[in-house]
Amino acid sequence: MSNSSRKIAIIGGGWAGLSAAVKLTNHGHHVTLFESAKQLGGRARCVAFGEQRVDNGQHLLLGAYTETLNMLQLCGVKIDNALLRSPLNIKVIERQGAEFNLSPSRLPAPLNILTALLTLPSLSIRERLKTIWFLLKLRLSGFKIRRDITVRKLLRHQPEIMVKMFWEPLCIAALNTAINDASAKIFLNVLKDSFTQKPEASDLLIPKVDLANLFVHPAMQYIEEHGGTLLLGKKINSIQKINSKYTVIDADDHQYDADDIILAGSPKSTLALLEKSALLETTQEQLRQLIYEPICTIYLQYANDIRLPLPMIGLTNCTGQWIFDRHFCGQAGLMAVVISASGPHMQLDKMTLAQLVSDELTELFDWPDANSSLVIREKRATFKAHVDIDKLRPNVTTSEKNLWLCGDYTASPYPATLEAAVQSGLQCSHEIIHYMK
Ligand SMILES: Cc1cc2nc3c(=O)[nH]c(=O)nc-3n(C[C@H](O)[C@H](O)[C@H](O)COP(=O)(O)OP(=O)(O)OC[C@H]3O[C@@H](n4cnc5c(N)ncnc54)[C@H](O)[C@@H]3O)c2cc1C
Repeated sequence: MSNSSRKIAIIGGGWAGLSAAVKLTNHGHHVTLFESAKQLGGRARCVAFGEQRVDNGQHLLLGAYTETLNMLQLCGVKIDNALLRSPLNIKVIERQGAEFNLSPSRLPAPLNILTALLTLPSLSIRERLKTIWFLLKLRLSGFKIRRDITVRKLLRHQPEIMVKMFWEPLCIAALNTAINDASAKIFLNVLKDSFTQKPEASDLLIPKVDLANLFVHPAMQYIEEHGGTLLLGKKINSIQKINSKYTVIDADDHQYDADDIILAGSPKSTLALLEKSALLETTQEQLRQLIYEPICTIYLQYANDIRLPLPMIGLTNCTGQWIFDRHFCGQAGLMAVVISASGPHMQLDKMTLAQLVSDELTELFDWPDANSSLVIREKRATFKAHVDIDKLRPNVTTSEKNLWLCGDYTASPYPATLEAAVQSGLQCSHEIIHYMK
């Protein structure tokens, strides 16, 4: 440990806390990461399904997730082995049989999307022109609006078919919030990054390996090899600040001193910690106002030869919203059906929900009943990205010296995603590294 290295306590080992730990150990700081669970990964972790391992929810990354991709590479992950890269080839099917296919070319953005729209058979010429005009207007405005409005309002002049078969499934998947509530500002930030950069930015990246092997294990190895300490099953109950020195206190009353503290829990657990420690009143007030949305993943195991034509397909007028074929990632016959945001499905018991979704797939694809199923409901998967959500997202820097926040809920152009989590971890690391110079 060099003279300039600092003793940093990171509370929380999700993707945000792990990213901060990787960056800070990379710069020679002495990091101890405390994680209350027996495993790292937080809301992006692995669980067992029979003999195989699946994730607590099917995750999808975008080519525009620059910081996440850089972080994976820093930890030695071979991106092409770990992620299935698929061009933004969006197929959405309706229960009544209608289909919508958008296959952008590899031309530079936005030409790739515009040419795809020009050739969309499911739209009339008028509908195509309206959509192209809408995208051009967004592009000319830099994907910015002065005052936040709902995505529904943003799309008010869009053809109904485009809303139902394209914008609505995209918005709910990206923001985990229904278009009637979702923030147009955040939605436009996601579109901007995907639709204005090089064509690869709009690629869909589906993990070929489970989330532990994608990031958690490589990050653990990196942190330990660079002198960091990872303490699992260590819940931090409170933080004390005496004479500008911090002490974190765990559930067994053990105390650890630190120069800097990074709070990397979920917004709910961070709020609890701040309340107990009587710190950051304004942040507490912001976090109290966050509303949460669930994400439900239904894994259905079929015979090995049951397949989709694409790695993922959108569904409308169904309970399931997106179906992922895990065969493309080496798990033959395994389907992951995702339902974002709240809805009547949250009231159903797990067996009824799995049967309902399996019946829908039988109707759509003529498949037999699934052999087995696993339903995972994450009740507080993300915060609700409603209009003016920006006002409730605290900065990583706080009014307390040497106390930092990181997590997907902190101020970011992105909704609650892996990219927002990684960005926040990097941002507070940069602040600490910069502050030390
Ligand atoms: C089902 C599901 C599907 C998703 N799909 C996608 C997707 O497709 N694409 C995408 O980009 N994002 C997706 N997300 C969102 C993404 O997973 C999250 O944004 C990200 O994982 C949040 O990471 P985080 O580190 O900010 O927080 P968390 O993952 O919540 O990490 C916080 C950690 O802190 C620990 N902790 C809390 N309190 C304490 C304490 N007092 N002491 C010690 N440890 C503590 C927790 O146990 C946890 O491990 C999805 C989320 C879910 C749940």
